[in-house]
Amino acid sequence: MSGHQHISENIQRVEERILTACRQAGRERIHVRLMAVSKTHPAELLAEAFTAGLRLFGENRVQEFQEKKAALDNLRIPVADTFTSDHRAAVHLIGHLQSNKTARAAEIFSAVDTVDSLKLAQRLNDAAARAKRQLSALIELKLSEEEAKTGLEADSSELAELLEQLPDLHHLQTRGLMTVAPFDENPETARKCFRKLRQLREELAARYPRLDFKELSMGMSGDFEIAIEEGSTLVRIGTAIFGARPKPA
Ligand SMILES: *Cc1c(COP(=O)(O)O)cnc(C)c1O
Repeated sequence: MSGHQHISENIQRVEERILTACRQAGRERIHVRLMAVSKTHPAELLAEAFTAGLRLFGENRVQEFQEKKAALDNLRIPVADTFTSDHRAAVHLIGHLQSNKTARAAEIFSAVDTVDSLKLAQRLNDAAARAKRQLSALIELKLSEEEAKTGLEADSSELAELLEQLPDLHHLQTRGLMTVAPFDENPETARKCFRKLRQLREELAARYPRLDFKELSMGMSGDFEIAIEEGSTLVRIGTAIFGARPKPA
């Protein structure tokens, strides 16, 4: 299949760029995870990336992934329900989650990387408890002024309240922070944002020692090398692997 080759070549190219960025930053490759952002693309492409060796995927809509998950079952691609493993695909939610979809999200995703309110965390915890499982989570922070961006403000009282409550939400396992850099031609804008997230991680880890802040999910196709230089542990890459996304109708 020609599509297959195309995707595995793209992955190889991305892999080389990640390696180069790690080398330049004096970091080890194993400390940066590659997430293939498969949103809007059909299950067949996700399956190709899986066959090419990728095991971590990002989807941004509950309904879309629910349909894809059924298609992946048909393609015999094993999807993990709880944790990353060597032979199954772990799929994280990386889009904004509406609170009326928490039950379904807690059933089908390995992790929700976009926890952006206290209410959402509580609802996800309840939903995970009902589903009798643990759900990994990242807290999404908004570090730029852009109106459209989701995420909690770093100096908000809601973030403080969330971080105080998280140790008692036993079905949610917080693993770190996530952010999306603002759209800007100038790469230094993204760098500032990534650096801010890493600094916040140090501050929060000192202030909330019961929580795990290891993961820093930052960097996309246009800025992942900068994110790696600034300490990213998880880069979320769509376009550079799957090509341009179809425009929404
Ligand atoms: C779509 C998306 C990505 C991937 O973006 P590309 O520029 O295609 O790599 C990463 N993170 C989030 C949150 C996204 O919504």
